[in-house]
Amino acid sequence: MNTNAYITSPYISSRNISNTHMQNYIISDALMQKDYNVSHDYMKMLQYACMGKAYDDIASGHDSGLVNIAILHRHLLKKDIMWAYSNITQASIEINAECNWRCRFCPNHTSPYAKKHMDNSLFVEILNKIDAYGKIKDLSLNFYGEPLLDNHLCEKLEHILDTQLNLVLYTNGSLIDETLIDAIKLFGSRVMICLNIPSIDEEEFAKLTGYKHLNKVINNLERLLQNNINVQISVNGKKGNRERNIKTINARFPSISIKGTDTTDRAGAVTNEFFQDITIKNKRLFGCQPILHDLQIDVEGNVMICCQDFHKRHLMDNVQNYDDLNQLLKSESVRRYRQMIWGAADVYQDIVCNRCIVMRDNQASAKLLLNQNIRGVGYGEDISNCSYI
Ligand code: SF4
Repeated sequence: MNTNAYITSPYISSRNISNTHMQNYIISDALMQKDYNVSHDYMKMLQYACMGKAYDDIASGHDSGLVNIAILHRHLLKKDIMWAYSNITQASIEINAECNWRCRFCPNHTSPYAKKHMDNSLFVEILNKIDAYGKIKDLSLNFYGEPLLDNHLCEKLEHILDTQLNLVLYTNGSLIDETLIDAIKLFGSRVMICLNIPSIDEEEFAKLTGYKHLNKVINNLERLLQNNINVQISVNGKKGNRERNIKTINARFPSISIKGTDTTDRAGAVTNEFFQDITIKNKRLFGCQPILHDLQIDVEGNVMICCQDFHKRHLMDNVQNYDDLNQLLKSESVRRYRQMIWGAADVYQDIVCNRCIVMRDNQASAKLLLNQNIRGVGYGEDISNCSYI
């Protein structure tokens, strides 16, 4: 007898792809970031469990093999801990707060952070917890600050080198020197340097970044390439300009991967020409992925809901409060935020998601799902209206 209660995951949504020969569905699972092609019986079983049922109940009316598969794939979650699940694969530690540039698309442009560095012993404690957690692959070292302003960066890199983690170093590239290059080279294929170069036109670059020495950044980029270090260029800016700049940069550096970044106003924190003026009034939100996959830690060890929260309105918890990340990720406060962001609890009035373009896009997708009557449980207002088919 198995009386444990299971509930259909709030992170899945489905799409009917049935035709005259078969009734099939595609499940998109935001938790595990995978799509699955499933049968009508599988969907019926998930629908049956959408308010939570004992294992034996579900298995008595459905193929128990399907029930076990659904548990294995996390389409059915243990009901009492359903908001404790996560699938964190990347982490970011804010080793220092300030930045030496003033990019127009960054909130630092108008409200620069004060100078603050992460204490080395705190860094080592957090790093060890991230490494011991075992599921995080990629580590970056910034929030809105420039990590190369940290005088103890090379020491920190030595600690990272002793872990299993890949280093994804987001930097503006202006402070790269020989010492750093030597430290980075030791990572081999475990490192990616992501340079913020919105334009290689000197005038436009200076206007966008507030930094007048594009040639210095380009020289440093070339030094990285000469040392066979993996480099990616991130191009911010408004769509038309961004596409033009990507083309120009690509023509000059054809071997480098270039990432056009959708420039957002960081939930209203960028107040100039990049301001997007988003207001969402719903009490219930529509789901968003970062809280399931990314761990964003600030200079004092606080855990934030995501990288868009420039003003650090939502400090969910602190890494120092727990012996390991497993406990932290299952804490009451973190669970509460997952519930709010995934539409199962009313939000705090000032939640940053209500000003975020990502949530507005997710709201539009959720509406589309509702119109097609194929919503997942967690989207929107009322969990009891769950309807898959
Ligand atoms: S909606 Fe925006 S602010 Fe909220 S979790 Fe998603 S990305 Fe972050």
